[in-house]
Amino acid sequence: MPLDLRTCAVIASTGDALLTRVYPAPPRPARTAFQRDRERIVQSRAFRRLAGKTQVFTSRSSDHFRSRLTHTMEVAQIARNVAARLGLNEDLAEALALVHDIGHPPFGHAGERALDDCLQRHGLRFDHNLHALRICEHFEQRYAAHRGLNLTLGVREGIIKHSRDYNAGLHPELASYLLDQRPPLEAQIIDLADEIAYLTADLDDGVESGLLDIGHIRDHVSILADSYTAVHLQHPGVEPKYLFNEALQLMQNILTDDLVHTTLANARSIGAKTLNDIRRHPSRLALFSPKAEGERLGEKHYLHDTLYSCPELTIEHDKAEEVVKALFDFWIDLPGELPQGYIDEIASEGLARVVADYIAGMTDAFILQQYALVKRAVRR
Ligand code: MG
Repeated sequence: MPLDLRTCAVIASTGDALLTRVYPAPPRPARTAFQRDRERIVQSRAFRRLAGKTQVFTSRSSDHFRSRLTHTMEVAQIARNVAARLGLNEDLAEALALVHDIGHPPFGHAGERALDDCLQRHGLRFDHNLHALRICEHFEQRYAAHRGLNLTLGVREGIIKHSRDYNAGLHPELASYLLDQRPPLEAQIIDLADEIAYLTADLDDGVESGLLDIGHIRDHVSILADSYTAVHLQHPGVEPKYLFNEALQLMQNILTDDLVHTTLANARSIGAKTLNDIRRHPSRLALFSPKAEGERLGEKHYLHDTLYSCPELTIEHDKAEEVVKALFDFWIDLPGELPQGYIDEIASEGLARVVADYIAGMTDAFILQQYALVKRAVRR
């Protein structure tokens, strides 16, 4: 039996502020506030650009790799499933999953590291959660009456807090987001749904790329090895690549079931009955069990050691860093070369932040195009 933790029910009974928007929006028939947020996110430009951003592999060697958009859709499926089974608000969970990577720059984590390095030289940092909030509150311009997507407080809070806690002293600008409290469970499950999605997908794409070998994975990743053995018993004589696909699905189901059961047990153990109980608890309740957490960490280390840091991807990461840093320096030196909309922001935001904002929004293809143009201009 799921706990009665449904955010909407709690909001309805307590007048919680999660549904409020900065600019009041009249209700629409047959669509909840979080359904409308989901639509606003899917219709945003930043969401569409996720199709052109690297998850782990660029699309140059295969059409089958995940992009950040298809990764996002996989996270949304898992989050919605987990939310439904826990009796949470599925629409809020889905909206948060769909927006969770919207602040990522081009070239995956290599692009993020490069942009952060550039900003640190100016005393600033790049944080993709905070950047996602800037996109949703500031950069998206779809409405006549205001800037931004005017999302509910529940979604905006979840954008910031879904994967980490922020120190109120270091981030006074986030004071309205209750930094001393845990986020609702719909936000807490997003980071774990993200983990489940990429732990499955990166093994899959790793084998597709030829950089990982099914036998090697079975020898080193216990949760995949156990899943493979189980599906092999069910389907003797089937080719390894099909057994591997089945094993990936079983592994995803095992982790998803574990997240549901562990989170439910944690909520029950503190006697949680309302959203306030979740918020006031000193730590997050959405967790994997110790066994699944150990397996998750084991696989994560394996992916790091054998895939993310392999020579083939290191070459791509080095190239990504070179491109990001060269463009950042170019626009710092020649801010007049930025598009006019960004030049207009320099007075209020500062040049380094504006250059980072411009670069962070780019797709892989667009930033490479800009890099080629700048290199040509510099040579002249
Ligand atoms: Mg993600």
